[in-house]
Amino acid sequence: MMPNWMDDIRELEELDKNHFLHPTSSIQQQQDAGPSFIFKEGRGVYLEDVKGKIVIDGMSSLWNVNVGHGRSEIGEVAKEQMTKLAYSSCFATFSNEPAIRLSAKLAELASSDLMATFFTSGGSEANDSAYKLARHYWMLKGKPERKKIISRTKSYHGVSMGATSATGLKPFREFSSSLAPDFYYVDHVEPVMLRELIEAEGPETIAAFIAEPVQGAGGVHIAPATYFKEVKEICVENEILFITDEVITGFGRTGKWFGIEHYGVTPDMMCFAKGVTSGYAQLGGVMLTEQIHEEFKKLSTGTLLHGYTYSGHAMACAVALKNLELIETENLIGNAESMGKELLAGLMWIQANHKIVGEVRGLGLMAAIEFVDEDQKKFQTPVSPLIVNEAAKRGLICRSVIFDGQDTIVIAPPLIITKEEIGNLIRILDDSIKEIEGKIPLI
Ligand code: PMP
Repeated sequence: MMPNWMDDIRELEELDKNHFLHPTSSIQQQQDAGPSFIFKEGRGVYLEDVKGKIVIDGMSSLWNVNVGHGRSEIGEVAKEQMTKLAYSSCFATFSNEPAIRLSAKLAELASSDLMATFFTSGGSEANDSAYKLARHYWMLKGKPERKKIISRTKSYHGVSMGATSATGLKPFREFSSSLAPDFYYVDHVEPVMLRELIEAEGPETIAAFIAEPVQGAGGVHIAPATYFKEVKEICVENEILFITDEVITGFGRTGKWFGIEHYGVTPDMMCFAKGVTSGYAQLGGVMLTEQIHEEFKKLSTGTLLHGYTYSGHAMACAVALKNLELIETENLIGNAESMGKELLAGLMWIQANHKIVGEVRGLGLMAAIEFVDEDQKKFQTPVSPLIVNEAAKRGLICRSVIFDGQDTIVIAPPLIITKEEIGNLIRILDDSIKEIEGKIPLI
């Protein structure tokens, strides 16, 4: 006889199919098979579903659970702040202590002269805010015609209207029949195209250039070592604001507090989200340099007509402060750096073992592994989704990226991961590749 709890799970699966429109999902897959995992608990790098299956969260869920799952220290802070003051408005002159302390903490952590923070609930809102604040900055400077925003191919900046418009990955833009105007794209590794576009459009029409220090959702693409120095120079020469989108790369993911630190340049604005709370609350924001903040301060008679109900949410900011304290006191950035090397070494070992593995790349705990056929060409039908499915069966969550003809698996485990856990992750991935490789003539 079927145990009662199986009925409960069946019911959940049916309710999911009928009522839950999943974000960034294949509706057909959901309708055919229902949810693949209904997670109920998390501990460290592991997630457990309602059937009792335990898997390694090799993606830190959405690149964000940096301190790992089930951190009761954060839960306690959330409970205390929720009970004392969950939320109050930060519009106009209202404020709250967690938001004030977090903005000061971020100014301390961001190594450049990023001094002031505008808070949002996530990364897309952070991006839209950055574009609007950059344009408004130019209005304050008497140059309202500086309104164009340039981003890179293979970039992902979110799904709100502005962030979708800035996203270089075409399928996201094509999902909506109409987008925001004044967005332009340049090659993701070649600075010359940026210079050419600026010349063609006229520098006096451009507000900002935005880039992820390491492209995440687009397939973990790491820019050449000199790329950001060159683009920063181009931006400075043409008085264009340089915005970094650190939504994934912030808060230790790459083995430094912020990804751009690897490149020895500093941004004028920085978007962040995800790792600022490790997913324990919804929070993001944009940081501005002192110089830009000074321009906004001159807005003495006007109003900053940009603000979200949840900008500076007290509970979310308290959670962020605790999360940042854990990242600092547990030296998770150092761990991301050393475990990142373990992960990359493991992926290279896999590469040496399998003909179908092409390029392997990584920085800190952000890595990618590409698949190719025996002629080093892409398979007609990508194999990465099959390997990801196989890995999930065997206890590892990772993600396949097939945009732009890629056939790649990306991996980004929590920053608390141990050497032993990396070993398990690599073993499962290796077994999964072996399994699919063996079936390739049939594919
Ligand atoms: N920017 C980058 C670089 C991202 O990776 C993401 C989310 N994956 C976003 C922005 C959007 O963030 P959110 O989903 O929190 O809106």
